[in-house]
Amino acid sequence: MGSVIPGLYRKDPGARRKAVVEASGLSEDDLRALFEPALQDPVLDGMVENVIGSFHLPLGVATGFQVNGRDVLVPMVTEESSVIAAASKGAQLARLRGGFSAWSSEQIMIGQVQLTDLKDPVKAAEGVLLRKDEVLSMANAKDPLLVKAGGGARDIETRVLEHPAGTMLVVHLLVDCRDAMGANAVNTMAESIAPLLEDITGGGAVLRILSNLATGRLSGARAIFPKEEIGGEEGVSSILKAFYLAQADPYRAATHNKGIMNGIDAVVLATGNDTRAVEAGAHAYASISGHYSPLTRYSRDGNGDLAGEIELPTAVGVVGGATRVHPAARVCIKLMGVSSARELGEVLASVGLAQNLAALRALSLEGIQKGHMRLHARNLAVQAGARPDEVDVLVDAMAVDGDINASKASELLATSRSRSTIKRI
Ligand code: NAD
Repeated sequence: MGSVIPGLYRKDPGARRKAVVEASGLSEDDLRALFEPALQDPVLDGMVENVIGSFHLPLGVATGFQVNGRDVLVPMVTEESSVIAAASKGAQLARLRGGFSAWSSEQIMIGQVQLTDLKDPVKAAEGVLLRKDEVLSMANAKDPLLVKAGGGARDIETRVLEHPAGTMLVVHLLVDCRDAMGANAVNTMAESIAPLLEDITGGGAVLRILSNLATGRLSGARAIFPKEEIGGEEGVSSILKAFYLAQADPYRAATHNKGIMNGIDAVVLATGNDTRAVEAGAHAYASISGHYSPLTRYSRDGNGDLAGEIELPTAVGVVGGATRVHPAARVCIKLMGVSSARELGEVLASVGLAQNLAALRALSLEGIQKGHMRLHARNLAVQAGARPDEVDVLVDAMAVDGDINASKASELLATSRSRSTIKRI
């Protein structure tokens, strides 16, 4: 599969679909699941409560990604314009130096069991650790399928936490979730071991639920962005300065990380995964040092090029949850050619880095408004009633005037139509 499809953005959606099918080897049936997204009532009704319909969002494809030497077409579901173009731009720049080198850790999720009203929390923790094997077998008995897939409960950790209301013990159950996101699996296991932990400790179990701070499930990516494509040495310096502000200031870091999640969430959603779980994990990880920080890091390499890297928790799956239930999500996973949660995490990290670099490049070199306002002008032209063949003319006219608003779009449309009527007469 090749991920570079020249001129994809200039094609209409039908021609784009054809180009993506040719590049990826998707079948006609797969394709239908992407552009005939109306899920049937029984599927919808099985997903959430009180279903009355479904809600459509645009699905686009980011091009140019190369992850660990493999070309990947990246499906993205988002309502925000410029996200897919920016991800593709970042991928195209990284590609010039060999694309993204991505890595992933083991796929360990943490289930927490909170124990309170303990006489001696430290002794209670020791007691739990002594009976670790018993606790693990009890957890694993709850998910033979996961164990068969090579996963399951692997270890336990204990943490004694001080609180003004009393000291508590938190037992972490470490579960290898393999290719599932694992929330249901871990929650079931945490609930199943709670009575045994109460017996061992003499305390009372309160919460028994997974933690979204998935530090046992990290993904990362690195890439080099050639200086000549990002404004030369001065451009590299500007991007570094922008990064330093994110390191120094949580007000900037929040927006920096929001930009990263623009890309990551769009892929998480396209693959039927849980955006809130990944968001929660990312932001909690960003503050793990006690200071909310950027999820990416940049430096200048020996050549003067910009070296970027990212690391974040990626609690996602390619089985379980909605990943196999939602027909379009199934096809999106197939489109990327990923067959494991680790590979999906590696693509997510690469997308986050691409997205962030593209945003920093635009912000530091040309100001984000330039690109954004052109896309905004497109939306205004469409809202004013422009036909597809009229949109570009209107966008160009608004860009020339620098006057980009709804009344200008209507005015320009009326003028352009009256001129073409005169020409026809
Ligand atoms: P799931 O229970 O649908 O699927 C996971 C199961 O698939 C495993 O337990 C295992 O039995 C089976 N399986 C088969 N082949 C496997 C393989 N190769 N690797 C791993 N497992 C395999 O879903 P889940 O992944 O346990 O949970 C995900 C869902 O839970 C998401 O929809 C998420 O939104 C939801 N959820 C999230 C939270 C949270 O993030 N705090 C809390 C509750 C629920």
